[in-house]
Amino acid sequence: MMNYRITLLPGDGIGPEIMAVAVDVLKVVGGQFNFQCEFQEAPIGGVAIDATGEPLPSQTLQMCRNSDAVLLAAIGGYKWDNLPRHQRPETGLLGLRAGLGLFANLRPAKILPQLIDASTLKREIVEGVDIMVVRELTGGVYFGTPKGVFETETGEKRGVNTMAYTESEVDRIARVGFETAQKRGGNLCSVDKANVLEVSQLWRDRVTQLAPEYPDVELSHLYVDNAAMQLVRWPKQFDTIVTGNLFGDILSDAAAMLTGSIGMLPSASLGASGPGVFEPVHGSAPDIAGQDKANPLAQVLSVAMMLRYALEQPVAADKIEKGVLEVLEQGYRTGDIMSEGMKQVGCKEMAEVLLKVLSV
Ligand code: NAD
Repeated sequence: MMNYRITLLPGDGIGPEIMAVAVDVLKVVGGQFNFQCEFQEAPIGGVAIDATGEPLPSQTLQMCRNSDAVLLAAIGGYKWDNLPRHQRPETGLLGLRAGLGLFANLRPAKILPQLIDASTLKREIVEGVDIMVVRELTGGVYFGTPKGVFETETGEKRGVNTMAYTESEVDRIARVGFETAQKRGGNLCSVDKANVLEVSQLWRDRVTQLAPEYPDVELSHLYVDNAAMQLVRWPKQFDTIVTGNLFGDILSDAAAMLTGSIGMLPSASLGASGPGVFEPVHGSAPDIAGQDKANPLAQVLSVAMMLRYALEQPVAADKIEKGVLEVLEQGYRTGDIMSEGMKQVGCKEMAEVLLKVLSV
């Protein structure tokens, strides 16, 4: 029997409601696939600010470091919106990413056949889309120096940011890209702007040099402007995309929106070693918190990503993903994905139906 230590960070808003579902799912599939999770819970975001004055207490980070994986729900809410930046819930999230060295962000965009009409694009364009965007998370223009607003000799202000990547930074994210493609369809598209940017030329050179180490992966390159166009023109051409921080920020949101449903999207953030963080893409939805209206499925699919990418339990991950499809197939919908003729349920009932499906 495998034993995993999982740190749970329920956070704010709907966080605790959807986290409860994730825990139940893990207990059920653990029993079936011969693994057990030891859960330890810690505060982050608004609840941590209320309890300790800080959005990421040092004990929380320590607990995360001492675990096999971290499952996060969501942070933030109206109550904490006007605090100074270092005390904001979002600062806790950035601190967690930095503290665990999470340099790779994996964002899948998969069209579920039952929710195809939620997409704003035509059925024939999005049907069958299954893309993974691997975004570099701790380098590039968001972190490069010099940065700031400086005064020029004429007294005019000039804003500066620097897009920079070292060879080793490119290599480690490229490897995550290749390895992710190996676990998926075997196609990797590296996105850059090598026709204009030197930093992108280095990126392209390094990715190309690593390719022979992954003979089972077919590598292609696209300029980011073309990639954006291709994503909405014919998204089915993509399997796995690897790209830098800025391009990935934009392309992962664009790819996610092909699906049209924010309550269904999981994500993973991984480091070189140590635990990764698995969380839904959506926020804490304070407008529906505490009303049993939250869609728990993005959180549940984050559990599946955790099993696949951190705990080497791909069969259990498959089972959860199939279970989610099955409850949708049976017509159950939370309010955010509701459509005509379907059965509207709350968070708890969605969980009950899912657990029933998973129990067989
Ligand atoms: P949000 O994702 O929380 O909500 C956007 C809309 O989608 C809302 O109408 C909400 O009710 C709905 N929604 C989101 N998730 C849902 C779910 N699982 N089920 C049903 N409906 C769902 O984004 P927002 O309103 O911009 O932000 C709210 C708070 O969340 C803010 O404090 C923000 O900073 C924070 N936030 C946190 C994260 C995170 O924890 N990673 C990400 C984004 C926003």
